Amino acid sequence: MFDEVIAQIRSFFPGRDFIPLHEPKFIGREKEYLSATIDSTFVSSVGKFVDRFEEMLRDYSGAGHAVATVNGTSALHAALLVAGVAAEDEVITQPLTFVATANAISYCRAHPVFLDVDRDTLGLSPAALRDFLEEHTEQSGNVCRNKTTGRRISACVPMHTFGHPCRIEEITELCREHNLFLIEDAAESLGSARSGKQTGTFGALGVYSFNGNKTITCGGGGAIVTDSKALAAHAKHLTTTAKKPHPYLYEHDEIGFNYRMPNLNAALACAQLENLDRFLADKRELAKLYRNFFSTQSAIDFITEPEDTRANYWLNAILLKDRTTRDLFLTKSNEAGIQTRPAWTLLNRLEIYSHCQTDELANAAWLAERIVNIPSSVRL
Ligand SMILES: *Cc1c(COP(=O)(O)O)cnc(C)c1O
Repeated sequence: MFDEVIAQIRSFFPGRDFIPLHEPKFIGREKEYLSATIDSTFVSSVGKFVDRFEEMLRDYSGAGHAVATVNGTSALHAALLVAGVAAEDEVITQPLTFVATANAISYCRAHPVFLDVDRDTLGLSPAALRDFLEEHTEQSGNVCRNKTTGRRISACVPMHTFGHPCRIEEITELCREHNLFLIEDAAESLGSARSGKQTGTFGALGVYSFNGNKTITCGGGGAIVTDSKALAAHAKHLTTTAKKPHPYLYEHDEIGFNYRMPNLNAALACAQLENLDRFLADKRELAKLYRNFFSTQSAIDFITEPEDTRANYWLNAILLKDRTTRDLFLTKSNEAGIQTRPAWTLLNRLEIYSHCQTDELANAAWLAERIVNIPSSVRL
């Protein structure tokens, strides 16, 4: 059992003993830009590559502004703060996500509320969001209040899981109706689009990650994108120690963060972004090969991009028929040198988030015991 699947995955990555889940690819001008950065001595928090990367990312995403940060988690934290998320607020998100989504909420001393995902998109379900808002909240003035806890719900953070866009248009509408600030965790979905519009640009703010395992990487890095000049300016200020502009005086007008992306990383990021379209074409080609192969396997479903979307296929994912089968596949594939892994443990099941409010999470629970991520690196 699974021998054919393992042989097939191996054939997509010829000449490799160990096939990682996702490895970075440096086939552009990375070394040239890094060298130029070292020669310039501007390796740290200022330099031309930071500015250049922000411009490139702004143009690529179609957002009005981009602010580079030291990683995706800090970008999420800063985005929540400029959205006005405050201590004792609540923020709606999904439990099927990397822990950083909820951690960033906690850094603001706010409380995550975990709502269910859709089975096809793997992202926050607008139906679950609507049900929760109708049943459990009331509007007082411009404030959305949780009737159970009495706390203000200030924001909603959907995540585009493995690069598959969630139903972001419906979520945008619900957030508008209920005065929730929409922040997209697009850490995994750079280059993914719904109806031709890039993920990360639907909400008031969107966040990307350029960690080593993401579609493009600069070692560690992140970014906030937004159409709002004011939010972008505040995000830049807050992530650069909130220093007032002055030729030599050090004065700070709020408690800011040192969340800047160093110029060295930005050099790498520029070179990587130059190749993003090639990477995406290659990743979509691999997804097509997987889709064709798994269509011949009756016991395994390959997760394809939702209708009306274009996914970056950051991490390819399959659904096994139950937890036992999944565990068997995980064991066999990893033993064969093919790195595979299950979805994250649902965040509401972690001790640290076990006290948080949730809905029934039927789809999240169903998916969590069946999902396996399979090797997805760019093969150029
Ligand atoms: C990778 C990731 C992040 C955070 O990224 P870092 O750059 O590693 O801090 C946040 N959310 C999700 C869903 C991610 O996958």
